[in-house]
Amino acid sequence: MEKCGVFAGFHLPNPTYQLLGPSRTAIMLLPPPFFTEKRPLFPLPLQLQKQSHFGLCNCSNGSGNTLRVASPTSNVATELADIDWDNLGFGFIATDYMYIMKCSQGENFSKGELQRFGNIELSPSSAILNYGQGLFEGLKAYRKHDGNILLFRPEENGLRLQMGAERMCMPSPTVEQFVETVKVTVLANERWIPPPGKGSLYIRPLLMGSGAVLGLAPAPEYTFLIYVLPVGNYFKEGLAPINLIVETEMHRATPGGTGGVKAIGNYAAVLKAQSAAKAKGFSDVLYLDSVHKRYLEEVSSCNVFLVKGNVISTPAIKGTILPGITRKSIIDVALSQGFQVEERSVTVDELLDADEVFCTGTAVVVSPVGSITYQGKRVSYGVDGVSQQLYSALTSLQMGLTEDKMDWIVELK
Ligand SMILES: *Cc1c(COP(=O)(O)O)cnc(C)c1O
Repeated sequence: MEKCGVFAGFHLPNPTYQLLGPSRTAIMLLPPPFFTEKRPLFPLPLQLQKQSHFGLCNCSNGSGNTLRVASPTSNVATELADIDWDNLGFGFIATDYMYIMKCSQGENFSKGELQRFGNIELSPSSAILNYGQGLFEGLKAYRKHDGNILLFRPEENGLRLQMGAERMCMPSPTVEQFVETVKVTVLANERWIPPPGKGSLYIRPLLMGSGAVLGLAPAPEYTFLIYVLPVGNYFKEGLAPINLIVETEMHRATPGGTGGVKAIGNYAAVLKAQSAAKAKGFSDVLYLDSVHKRYLEEVSSCNVFLVKGNVISTPAIKGTILPGITRKSIIDVALSQGFQVEERSVTVDELLDADEVFCTGTAVVVSPVGSITYQGKRVSYGVDGVSQQLYSALTSLQMGLTEDKMDWIVELK
């Protein structure tokens, strides 16, 4: 249904469709999909091919359509998808293609392909559905004014996926495969990347046990899948401050558990506390450690920082806190701007006399916290200072507006 809505205004722009292949990988090109009833007009999956050079060539997809592969140096303006770019939120939108790669247990991922975006088939007995054997990742692509497309530290997501896969007994793509397949998926969906300043293309890789199991064991087959969709601001308020409540009963993670990896089930576990908080008018929940109920951990889906004078503190990564790539980047940006940064145990009492509090994550980037409520007591914070400064510094880097001295940006063209 969503598909029909999204593609309702779709028309074929012109007869030459070009996608730019990223380094070492070329995509065979098809016109953007358009749908008759429910079935795509060109049902053939796109084969991802390794090629040694990128001359402009005509290839056939076997069904009589002529496909073109463009040189990565050519600069073809792609027509944008027909959606309201000024009112992007953080909701689901179906795009053109998804990437799928499978492998058996004990083997390595080796060959995948782009397919039309759509539902996937899973055994009712698949490990992901029955036992939650799965991980997700999240990163963004930005469209730059000069037409280039930028990724932010994608190899960090690839590394984190590998670490998580080890914890969840799954094979994982190599970091190189991860980055390469992210590039291919982004380029195949280029018309969904928002214009500069309007948002970004959110990239959601999934790794899951797709094979059937019944007795408790790792799945016999695994699927790595990437889909993408355009997003605007995560919080409706944008950079407006969010209001948090400290959760004292429920916990997000426990020592020795899977809180330190992006396990799919981690999010189902925070829905209840988050819904209760939202019902009381808060934006989200701030979790405490499950052993002492005294040390800050993080918000449902983002890391937390406290500012006091020139010192910025954030809970240290010790297995129960997700090692955010935004967290890691903000630490480096803050250091480069002359702040002192401490990764340590931060007690909930320190919230009382912090100057500022903010959250970090790919979706929000930096989100200033306007107030925190703990045991019925509400503390308010200033929001126009450090968080705003770090948000501007990091987002201008990510959007390619400032020089990338850290070597964090990966250009797609
Ligand atoms: C993904 C995630 C974050 C943020 O990580 P980034 O790499 O900065 O996006 C923080 N906390 C949790 C629980 C997460 O799942």
